[in-house]
Order: sequence, then C-alpha cells, then structure tokens
Amino acid sequence: MSEFDLISHYFKHLSAQRSDVVLGIGDDCALLEVPFGMQLAMSTDTLNAGIHFPENTHADDIGYKSLAVNLSDLAAMGATPAWVSLNLSLPDYDKDWLDGFCQGFAELAQHYGMQLVGGDTTQGPLSISVQVYGFVEPGQAMRRDEAQVGNQIYVSGNLGDAGLGLKQCLGQLNHVPDYCVARLNRPQPRVELGLALTQYSRCAIDISDGLVADLGHILEQSDCGARIELEQIPLSEPLASYYADEKDWPLILTSGDDYELCFTVSKDKQESMLAMLDQQTVAVSRIGEITKTGGLICVDAQGQPLSFEHPGYNHFKS
Ligand code: ADP
Ligand code: MG
Repeated sequence: MSEFDLISHYFKHLSAQRSDVVLGIGDDCALLEVPFGMQLAMSTDTLNAGIHFPENTHADDIGYKSLAVNLSDLAAMGATPAWVSLNLSLPDYDKDWLDGFCQGFAELAQHYGMQLVGGDTTQGPLSISVQVYGFVEPGQAMRRDEAQVGNQIYVSGNLGDAGLGLKQCLGQLNHVPDYCVARLNRPQPRVELGLALTQYSRCAIDISDGLVADLGHILEQSDCGARIELEQIPLSEPLASYYADEKDWPLILTSGDDYELCFTVSKDKQESMLAMLDQQTVAVSRIGEITKTGGLICVDAQGQPLSFEHPGYNHFKS
C-alpha cells in the first residue's frame, strides 16, 4: 500500500463530519471555519514508543490515548473540541496495527464529534503526534496564571492509578489491580467537567506529569504558593487497597499520566460550583488552598511537611 492509499483508506473517513470543515483531508491545507466571535484553542502532544507508552501497548490503546491526552489539554482550558490532525511515523505498513490504532482513535473522535482534518504520514520509529483545535468564548479560558491567594484547590477523579499501572506494565510491581492499568491506557479526558468549570474557575491545568509538577506550573505562573493536605488527596478503592499500609506519596503525586484536572475556585463560588458539579459524572475533591508565598507545601495528617526528590516526569532532566 502506498502512502496515499494508506491515507485515503485509513484516515479520510475515520471521524465525524462537521459543517465547519470547508475542506478536509486531501489538499495541501484544510480550510476551517471558526464560529463567529469565538477564540481558537490549539494544543499538541507527541507519544513516542518506549517513552510515553510501554513498547507492548496495544495499538487500539495507543490510538485512544494519543487523542485522549490532547483532549485533556482542551478540557483544562475549558474549550469545546472541534478538529484534530495527526502526524504518524510508522516503522512499516502493519494492517492489524493500523486497524487497531484507528479504532481506538475514532472511538474518542466520534464521542466528541471531532473531525480529523489533516496530518502527515511518514516512515520511521513509531511516534504519534496529535494536534487538537477547539473553541472558547473570549475571556472564558481557564489559565495557569490566574490563581489568586485564598482560592481553594480542587482535583477531579483519583490520583496515582496510572502511575501504579505503569509499574505493573514495566514489570517493577506485581498484582497491581487491572483497574490501574486501564487508567494508564485509557485515560478519560475531563472535557465536560472543563466546560462546566468555566463558569466558576479561572485557573486550571491537566495533570499529565503528576500533581506536584503540574500544580507547580500554576504556582510559578500565578506567582503564589499552595498548601496541600495529603489526607484529602482522592484515591481509588483499588489503589488504596494495594497500599493498605503506608501510601506511596511520591508515586501518587509525581508519576503522572493521571489526566485529571487540577483547578482553583474562589471561596464565594465554591458552594454554587459544588451544586452544579452534582450533575457531573466525575467527583471533585478539595485538596488545599492557594497561599501568598512558600512554594508548594504538602502536609500529612500530623501537619508534617513531606518533600519530593523529583516533582514529576521530565524529559531532559540530568
Ligand atoms: P503534502 O505532501 O502536501 O504535505 P501529503 O501527501 O502529506 O500532503 O498528505 C495528503 C493529504 O492527506 C493532506 O491533506 C494531509 O493533511 C492528509 N494526511 C496525511 N497524513 C495524514 C494522517 N495521518 N491523518 C490525516 N490526514 C493525513
Ligand atoms: Mg507530507
């Protein structure tokens, strides 16, 4: 199969068709119509074999996850997903792998009504780079530089499951619950939550590198500190029972791949926000407060601060 046969067979009709796509796959550029008065939110993330997913990950999970991690960025800004493009580097033509990849990718694209509008297909080491585009009303996006002193800090879902699942996939731990491996391979982007939060929160980030690192980005860009109560960190039942005795806080807070949202809200908006979130399928937990200075302080039940040697995943750390 040639490069062009491959594109038309696998990618041309892979996803939803949208009326705001004037010209999709097949020309030098796609032509896209941003709704009048809206801002375009754009983000991209690359997944490299052996770095972003273990070499033995199933193709459908890779397809799903490559879109999920990008959708998570749109969710963190409170943007409505619209379009996606895909740069694929493949070692060879492998029909089963491509079928699986497209199935996982299309599942999520269909769910969010996104159209695949272009990309590039090349031969080389397995690498998947996805770009997503969404819409946000001017002034409504949640930004990393908008946390205010006294804001309450929340996270969605549970933290640490994917980090534990990764240890199982890498053969570093045994008998890790399947649930945690599924959380690694099939993260659920919190798109609906992000959209709902724009009415209450001005500041959010998605947790891709671990809470310590990602909340750290908010603190740096908003020029403030934070105090986190470890006891309030939400943990899933399977993870809590795996760590029945002593919890592994560095794994839970610094290994990443959670793809939950961390966001801040002013005290006076908390009550109405929580009432609105009752209708959301994912729970949120209050874990701490934004402070004036002092960096990030994580305290245990006895009020003792805990420090972390490495805040989170870092590609070029020495
Ligand atoms: P060009 O050589 O002009 O860059 P290509 O031959 O690379 O164009 O691609 C032909 C068309 O197929 C373009 O519209 C491009 O956006 C689309 N395309 C190529 N690879 C992919 C892919 N992996 N997913 C979606 N669209 C793709
Ligand atoms: Mg090209």
